[in-house]
Amino acid sequence: MKIAILSQKASLYSTTRLKEAGQQRGHEMHVVHYLRCYMNITSHHPTVVYGGHELAGFGAVIPRIGASHTFYGTAVVRQFEMMGVFSINESQAIARSRDKLRCLQLLARKGIGLPVTAFAHSTRDVPGLIDIVRGAPLVIKLLEGTQGIGVILADTRASAESVIEAFRGLDANILVQEFIREAAGSDIRAFVVGGKVVASMRRVAPAGEFRSNLHRGGTAEAVKLTPEERSTAIRAAKAMGLGVAGVDILRSNHGPVVMEVNSSPGLEGIEAATSVDVAGRIIEFIETHAAPGRTHDRIRA
Ligand code: ADP
Repeated sequence: MKIAILSQKASLYSTTRLKEAGQQRGHEMHVVHYLRCYMNITSHHPTVVYGGHELAGFGAVIPRIGASHTFYGTAVVRQFEMMGVFSINESQAIARSRDKLRCLQLLARKGIGLPVTAFAHSTRDVPGLIDIVRGAPLVIKLLEGTQGIGVILADTRASAESVIEAFRGLDANILVQEFIREAAGSDIRAFVVGGKVVASMRRVAPAGEFRSNLHRGGTAEAVKLTPEERSTAIRAAKAMGLGVAGVDILRSNHGPVVMEVNSSPGLEGIEAATSVDVAGRIIEFIETHAAPGRTHDRIRA
């Protein structure tokens, strides 16, 4: 099969691994820099043009859309969908996952465990907002932050109030969330492919830090999930309509709570920590699911 990896750089670890894994299984792999694509939006013959050539004959695409290019990246994925090409994650599902608030609302609707979270536009009742999450310490998150940037722990009510007011003064959208102290600076990344957890790791924050992102200096090790954690991860990916997802979970006193569902989860950390061939599992998923016309631009039932 001819498979396109939509990525900004062929040398990125995840891109390289996916290319390798596809080639090993006999596929023709192409890395397509999606920001350099342009599209012909017609109803009879929608096309994607790249490097002066029409991209034709592809059976599947693997979107690896950077957080700062969601708008154009999802438009390119949508164009492939219009051409009947299977995408491991559909454009709508990627867009949904990029907004933390929307993501939490979709998960809440399916009854998935979440940290108690509040959101408001106005700063007229900041104390009320803080009360919803049962006071300080609490976590404040920029709605579109990634890699732990824009995630702040406020120890006291007074500091929480001033941070919330400062962010809102800048017109930034934020979430206010209960602080899961018992997670003790660690979280779980469950890598879901086609409705199964194929690999899972526990990330631990460096000393003095509560954020366990690997980009923030966290370390990772393989972890065995409890049945409840496993089913939470699978249900979360399904609620978002994602075929491939990185589900981030905190171990709280009231069971597993989902922080976030990532639609372009990195492969480097998880493959290194678990020795699982995650890239190979993604290619297998494509082999069993990519058939012309299989893609549909809505949440799966
Ligand atoms: P990002 O998308 O920027 O990675 P996250 O929401 O995943 O942001 O938060 C980054 C890290 O901060 C998480 O991996 C986790 O370790 C920690 N964290 C986030 N929210 C909470 C919370 N409510 N309670 C405790 N720790 C949290």
